[in-house]
Amino acid sequence: MTDTALPTTGHIGGGGLDLDTLDLMLEALTDFVAAGMDDDRMLQLDHDDVCPEDLVRAMQSDELGVQLVFLPEEYGGMGGGAFDIYRVCERMGRIDIGLATSVLATFLGSDPILVGATEEQRAEWLGRIAEQGILFAYGATEPEAGSDLGSLTTTAVPKKDDDGTVTGYVINGRKQWISNGGIADASTILALTEGGPTWFVVERGTPGFEAAPHEDKHGIRLSNTCALFLDDVEVPVENLIGGVEGQGLVQAQQVFGYTRLMVAAFGLGGGWEALDRAITYSVNRIQGGAPLSQKQGLTHKLIIPHLVRLEAARAYIEETATRIDKGEGENGALNTEGAIAKYLATEAGNSAAEAAIQVHGGYGYTRPYIVEKIKRDVRITTIYEGTSEIMEMTIGRDRWQHHLKTKGDHYHVQAAELRHLHAAHPTIGADVAALATDALAGVFAAAQTGRLTRNQHILFRLGELAAVVEGAGALCRRAAAKADETISAKADKRFSAQTLATICRVYAREAAMKIADDGVRWVAGGAAVEGVDSAELARSLAATLRLDDVRAAQAGLIADMDAIAAAIYDNA
Ligand SMILES: Cc1cc2nc3c(=O)[nH]c(=O)nc-3n(C[C@H](O)[C@H](O)[C@H](O)COP(=O)(O)OP(=O)(O)OC[C@H]3O[C@@H](n4cnc5c(N)ncnc54)[C@H](O)[C@@H]3O)c2cc1C
Repeated sequence: MTDTALPTTGHIGGGGLDLDTLDLMLEALTDFVAAGMDDDRMLQLDHDDVCPEDLVRAMQSDELGVQLVFLPEEYGGMGGGAFDIYRVCERMGRIDIGLATSVLATFLGSDPILVGATEEQRAEWLGRIAEQGILFAYGATEPEAGSDLGSLTTTAVPKKDDDGTVTGYVINGRKQWISNGGIADASTILALTEGGPTWFVVERGTPGFEAAPHEDKHGIRLSNTCALFLDDVEVPVENLIGGVEGQGLVQAQQVFGYTRLMVAAFGLGGGWEALDRAITYSVNRIQGGAPLSQKQGLTHKLIIPHLVRLEAARAYIEETATRIDKGEGENGALNTEGAIAKYLATEAGNSAAEAAIQVHGGYGYTRPYIVEKIKRDVRITTIYEGTSEIMEMTIGRDRWQHHLKTKGDHYHVQAAELRHLHAAHPTIGADVAALATDALAGVFAAAQTGRLTRNQHILFRLGELAAVVEGAGALCRRAAAKADETISAKADKRFSAQTLATICRVYAREAAMKIADDGVRWVAGGAAVEGVDSAELARSLAATLRLDDVRAAQAGLIADMDAIAAAIYDNA
């Protein structure tokens, strides 16, 4: 029980699938679910609030084996990397985020085992997931401990034999909102021991371990969600993950980089599914003598901006997945990047689905058009695995530290890199993204002078602005890689290099405008500290933001939106 070195393959820095295998899995996934569930059955299950457990289990059986993508090869999996997992999660998110959540729950549940368990425990539990397709649940949240997991109250007390040797633990407490809670074969449960929060594996049927009835939820109604009750539940000492008490929060932190990437991919998939349905609908719906797809007032409000934000999120997800696959993601190293990916993709997915309802008019407000269901489903992605506000806090705090450590250079350095990229690729809007990035450095500096991060709201808004700027940078790099044909062969291929450059220019303009406007607003609005006049601070910030350049950079915006519309409607 001593070897806890991380597996060399699997979803932390994994070797990854080859392209053909990934493509085959994506295709098989779509066909398999389509064969087991058409739109009518999906709507009925949603209406009846039923999890299709048979389908969830079949997805993890020899028939499909989706779980193998997530598992290291040494435990019988296929050793998919983060990039593979993003593609699979996006595809699942397009199909049904509830079903996707049921698959995700097994991976969340097994993550503490992957990162923290002993070799024997990994072989036992990961091996059973691979071979038998058993379902896991991840039991962290409690009625009084959600975003603040540190306040958990579930306890695990050691049981000792006559010699004083610990033979097992007795767990008491309650878990809330646990995906797969009512159907899982085993759950990982976070409980307080003397040494601190600790993960335990609790098998279904263990006396005292009960699931409450399935929750009646707003969305993802195909995903089983239950409270779990633990009353004097006895587990053997072998079920303490890693064999050492007190590692639970560290183990949970270690996996956020890629678990948040998975939820980001659900947001991306759900958002794109809704938008694609809106695009198709707008081609067929004639109003005012022409299809809606020809109404600029509709496309440029309800389609293009959402498409652009989803693609910025995709660029950030792909960049982060690539870094994780290169080994950067271990021990929580890319948690902030996971948070940025999740924040950008789930917020974009949520508002894209909202807009898709509007595109459908009255029909969108009814169930059969599916976008209403997608909107309810995708909503969860801004809540679980850390709410959007917790993402803003994570990003804001981390990037504030970078700002302080580099004495204000952090974003100026990134802006210089973007200007360099612009020199090689003058059509992708990297100069405008650089303007946004320099502006953000100015906003951080003004916030430091005014000591404005004492306001939680301003710290969170800085987190938001940082995510937008970093999304713009990632999109520029993706557009450049597409033009150079150096983009990953596994990357999404929907847009040509030219369309991607256009999308990139639109997002860069939005980012620059947002940083300039919001930056001045929050700096001016921050409470003044002694000796600092916040209105004066905002005036001097405005003078450094190159506002005239930011405004001038908006030239060509409508023409670019027209070009994106032409590109998608040619493909629709
Ligand atoms: C359908 C569903 C499935 C889920 N599946 C699982 C699962 O499988 N396993 C599991 O362990 N958990 C699961 N969860 C729990 C989920 O992760 C939590 O709901 C989430 O982390 C938020 O916690 P909470 O609900 O207690 O909200 P709270 O933490 O009470 O948050 C309420 C509001 O306050 C805000 N807030 C919280 N803290 C702060 C702060 N410090 N500053 C400012 N604002 C703050 C939040 O952003 C939010 O808007 C699931 C939840 C749902 C709804």
